[in-house]
Amino acid sequence: MKALVYKGPRDVVINNVPDAKIEKPTDVLVKITTSNICGSDLHMYEGRTSVEAGKILGHENLGIVIEAGSAVERVKVGDRVCLPFNISCGFCENCERGQTAFCLIANPGNAGAAYGYAEMGPYSGGQAEYLRVPYADFNCLVLPPDAEEKENDYVMLSDIFPTGYHATELAGVKPGDSVVIYGAGPVGLMAAHSALIKGAAKVMVVDMHEDRLALAEKIGAIPINKVDESCVDEVLKLTNGRGADCGCECVGYQCHDHPGHEVPNLTMNNLVKSVKATGGIGVVGVFMPEDPGASDELAKQGKLAFDFGTFFTKGQRMGTGQANVKAYNRKLMHLIQQGKANPSFIVSHELPLDKAAEGYASFDAREEGWTKVVLKTGA
Ligand code: NAD
Ligand code: ZN
Repeated sequence: MKALVYKGPRDVVINNVPDAKIEKPTDVLVKITTSNICGSDLHMYEGRTSVEAGKILGHENLGIVIEAGSAVERVKVGDRVCLPFNISCGFCENCERGQTAFCLIANPGNAGAAYGYAEMGPYSGGQAEYLRVPYADFNCLVLPPDAEEKENDYVMLSDIFPTGYHATELAGVKPGDSVVIYGAGPVGLMAAHSALIKGAAKVMVVDMHEDRLALAEKIGAIPINKVDESCVDEVLKLTNGRGADCGCECVGYQCHDHPGHEVPNLTMNNLVKSVKATGGIGVVGVFMPEDPGASDELAKQGKLAFDFGTFFTKGQRMGTGQANVKAYNRKLMHLIQQGKANPSFIVSHELPLDKAAEGYASFDAREEGWTKVVLKTGA
């Protein structure tokens, strides 16, 4: 089958690889129709992880079940399914409590498993023609009849819509709240969409890319095009000097050769300063235990210094981590079905799988207008 394979930093190619196949009776095999490129793929693409050459990337996957293992009962051949990026068993202590991003079985000894990702288990990704889906009865979200028509909406249920929603849950966003979101990438825009769906009164989005901020404005958020400390004054001005009720970090480590991305802890410092005393903070931007490509020594060891004193003095709360996609994807699917959520507004480019390498290069370079790339297999 054809698949997008990681070869080295900023080097991904379409190769012919052995077909994905059922390996356990609880697996299904999915023919991929859409697989997105994610900001999380850029951590690998930019060479800042230990991902091995030859890994098939792609964790935002949607497709059609073409074969089911002998122990699969709920999912049927022909079902159109969206796959949470987290691979989870459904029966360990963490999965039992809905913490499927931290499954203790799918990636023993490590926190959580995912398709096509560094240090998240031996699983191949879905930027390919076929994908093996483990624990299929638990992991497959079977989509409604309008699945084909709204494929670019439903595919966002694999990761970034639930992740943006998770950021607002960690931050404790309630109706009427003011919310500041750092990052107008796909995840930040999904956090803004989620906060507005929840009934936030005022949503402010901070970034340095006009094209992405324009999308934030289009859905009813207030864009702030300042990423140095002056964005804090802007948020204070917009919240009568008290700071936002809640804040979300949707940036994470950025490649330090992108302009303005040199200081990895800037967003955390700005967050604690721009959120009110006792306010809630949700951090879904990825910070890794090691970041060999980082520009300073502490960041290389994954040690992130931020203004903890302000965080303590203001009595703020903070939640972090990968999103438990399964905790939200069914409810968010219903919102899409009812026309109350339309996460596909971020899609800027639909490319055939063959053009994936170009998609990576342009998305990574933050070329104007490249907000979210969806790869169409078979196109
Ligand atoms: P992205 O890299 O396209 O978006 C990040 C945005 O942040 C960019 O638009 C960039 O211009 C902006 N930015 C950079 N420095 C900034 C600063 N100092 N202040 C404000 N904005 C700044 O990627 P994305 O797909 O939106 O992903 C964002 C982060 O979320 C990544 O770290 C990704 O790994 C992470 N992520 C986490 C989860 C999870 O489950 N927790 C899931 C998916 C993605
Ligand atoms: Zn992703």
